[in-house]
Amino acid sequence: MQVSNNSLTITARTKILNGGPLPTVIAGPCSAETEEQMLQTARALQQDHRVSVFRAGIWKPRTRPGLFEGIGQVGLEWLQNVKSETGLQTAVEVANTQHVEQALRHGVDILWVGARTTVNPFSVQEIADALQGVDIPVLVKNPVNPDIQLWLGALERLNRAGITDLGLIHRGFSTVNNKPYRNHPKWEAIAQIRALAPGVPLICDPSHIAGRRDLLQTVSQQALHLGADGLMIETHCNPDAALSDASQQVTPAGLDALLTSLDLESERV
Ligand code: PEP
Ligand code: MN
Repeated sequence: MQVSNNSLTITARTKILNGGPLPTVIAGPCSAETEEQMLQTARALQQDHRVSVFRAGIWKPRTRPGLFEGIGQVGLEWLQNVKSETGLQTAVEVANTQHVEQALRHGVDILWVGARTTVNPFSVQEIADALQGVDIPVLVKNPVNPDIQLWLGALERLNRAGITDLGLIHRGFSTVNNKPYRNHPKWEAIAQIRALAPGVPLICDPSHIAGRRDLLQTVSQQALHLGADGLMIETHCNPDAALSDASQQVTPAGLDALLTSLDLESERV
């Protein structure tokens, strides 16, 4: 069934959600690094029945050049192995036509648009054009700056291309004062975007909000309290050795402890 509001036509029952009362949990490394790292992380996550989607960055938008910019296409083959071995759904970030084509060719289940891409309507339109006629869920992270209309505009571009299984990810906004968070959560933005995009599930990414693992619990619980439909949490079998975002990633055991500490059915406000 499809429902329409002013600017969006969305599927009433999105594939992104579990379908149950518990939040959807998307976990996996910031970046795909090696096949062993992917499989080791995914095998451990598979044991946790609260986790339904395995994420991994294949192409990484780094702030400055010269850092690890992603493993590229071979990572998609590792992701296929993760999926066939563990049964977890897979999700990757796409930022251009080539990424979309390669991800689709390798059977990725869910795509997401990163914060640095949502900010650019040309890039979002390019992705939307590449997805014309394709039936796949797409999650859209908030733009780096707190511009709700730009976030909504990205949803609309994808929706006009025929994508009806849409989701939102709040990953915080850049500010001049990045203490204590790497990217500041703007909780009122959740209510604002929900009002503009009713029925579109909202997932919180506490990893990119917090920037450090000791703050994940507080941010996650607040998001759930405000009615977030899911959490995306960066998880790595050896976080301190990660090639990107080492300080915010948790081990699968750390994720288990984090999820267990959360009131997952916390009364929504
Ligand atoms: C990521 O999810 O690894 C990522 C690059 O996030 P963001 O687009 O929120 O910076
Ligand atoms: Mn990351």
